[in-house]
Amino acid sequence: MPVCPLLRKTSAGPFETVTEALGTRSGRQEPSLSFEFFPPRNQEEAADQLWRSFDALMEVSPDFISVTYGAGGSNRETSLAVVERMARDVMTIGHLTCVGGSRASTAETISRFEDAGVHSILALRGDAPQDNPDALKTGELKSALELVHLVRQTSNLEVGVAAFPEVHPESPHMEHDSMVLEMKQSAGATYAMTQLFFTVDAYTDLVSSAKIAGATMPIIPGLMPVGNAAKVLRMAEMSGAAIPVELLKELENAGSDAEARVIGMEYSIKLARDLVDAGAPGLHIFSMNLSKAALEVARGAGLCR
Ligand code: FAD
Repeated sequence: MPVCPLLRKTSAGPFETVTEALGTRSGRQEPSLSFEFFPPRNQEEAADQLWRSFDALMEVSPDFISVTYGAGGSNRETSLAVVERMARDVMTIGHLTCVGGSRASTAETISRFEDAGVHSILALRGDAPQDNPDALKTGELKSALELVHLVRQTSNLEVGVAAFPEVHPESPHMEHDSMVLEMKQSAGATYAMTQLFFTVDAYTDLVSSAKIAGATMPIIPGLMPVGNAAKVLRMAEMSGAAIPVELLKELENAGSDAEARVIGMEYSIKLARDLVDAGAPGLHIFSMNLSKAALEVARGAGLCR
């Protein structure tokens, strides 16, 4: 068991943990600002794009950033290399999935994250990879809750978890998700980050439901800028996020990609502002390893300091 949780003192940037960042920002009545990145696949071009975007987004001093992780550890080494480099400049959350993994191998990855300078783990179950649909049944660790326990038992790292404004696809209803969120909080998770969504109500409904279930940890909305409308619509479909009919109509009626971009970005900036006004502790912007749209949202919502 960890003897003295969250006592690492080597953070790049002013904050040691997400909890500290959110607490400090909240004390100043400011929302936090953070960005998500994903490890590049092998191409040099993708790596260049990631690091160019990272450098550009660091210019606006995010409080922390996060790096995704392939389900089943498919990109473990790339993910570790990326977090190691980013953690030198900014407090870094490593996403970690446990689907298909053993306790021992997952504990080893947690330890490697810690050595790489990560201060916080976003503990996720992940989804079964297409080439191993049975992974959810065969792995030793079967849920993110078990991973939260494992991180707390084997490290001093802070733990966050996923939350779903439009209900997790396998969940019967939001109350069920909220109950699971409360169990994760009781197991030691101190913040949650959401799946993408497109209405303020989706977020406020989730926060209310979580509170009723006793899950009072901060829930940071994840925001996907609608820069490339076609791409975002595809991602929304994959994640099950409903696009408001009016937005969909406006995007469909746009005369060009450029016009669709203006519509999408105006929508995203308004959503960002509305979420902050509704009490969100901060915004976690899915950068998609591109800086332009992420910066526009951050600036448009007044989050650049
Ligand atoms: P779980 O908490 O295990 O939940 C899965 C389902 O089981 C839910 O329906 C839940 O209600 C139910 N459940 C869980 N525990 C219990 C219990 N004890 N009793 C009853 N029901 C239970 N995927 C990746 O592969 N890599 C990433 O980097 C990544 N990053 C993400 C970041 C964010 C912010 C979010 C929101 C998702 C991310 N995902 C990522 C996707 C995530 O792995 C999937 O959505 C996955 O299907 C669920 O993960 P979970 O952690 O919520 O799982």
